Amino acid sequence: MSRMEDSQGEYVFSPETTPQVRVRGSAAMFPVRRIYCVGSNYREHAREMGTSLREPPCFFSKPANAVFTGDAVPYPPMTHNLHHEAELVVALGSGGVNIPVEQALEKVFGYAAGVDLTRRDLQAEAKKQGRPWSTAKSFDCSAPVSAIRRASDGGHPENASIRLDVNEEIRQRGNTGDMTWSVPEIIAELSRYFELKAGDLIFTGTPPGVGALVPGDRVDCSIDTVGSLGFVVTGS
Ligand code: MN
Repeated sequence: MSRMEDSQGEYVFSPETTPQVRVRGSAAMFPVRRIYCVGSNYREHAREMGTSLREPPCFFSKPANAVFTGDAVPYPPMTHNLHHEAELVVALGSGGVNIPVEQALEKVFGYAAGVDLTRRDLQAEAKKQGRPWSTAKSFDCSAPVSAIRRASDGGHPENASIRLDVNEEIRQRGNTGDMTWSVPEIIAELSRYFELKAGDLIFTGTPPGVGALVPGDRVDCSIDTVGSLGFVVTGS
């Protein structure tokens, strides 16, 4: 047997299926490769979190299989302060390195609404101790997203209102036009650190009004012209 054939042997166990998100208006699925996130990208949210304005974007990531498209999110263990963050999500159809700002939107397949779920108590502790955010941000089901709306269907949302309600009460209201770093700027900057590829999702930061969720809460998040998602938080 050649080395090539040797390397095509059976897996020692079945690999998980690729995480995927529905594409609006078609039967096609978007396979998720990586999930990147931007911290503090709206001035008013940066203010409520006590961070300063227009610093270079702060990037972190979630595992691809943190993406969640169901209607019941389990309250995660090891936290007493689970927060919602409504965000515009960019879905890349191609990528590259050192992408110029002027070419960045050509890489976008589409957009979704998403919620960057956060163990705020663990994040606060990590910040205080100068430790990584993994346990605060990268847990199972921490990235609920809507179906993806193709850019070719509805263009690029520049001044879309973004909303999140809990139990039909207003929690977050914002506009994607208020982002400190625009979508093209985010893609360009991120591509200086990582080779971006088709299948990458980018959570672009949250407007003000983040707050705690408890088991039983009903969350509804939507972005005009992009999409909406809703889920219930179930008991731990
Ligand atoms: Mn966020």
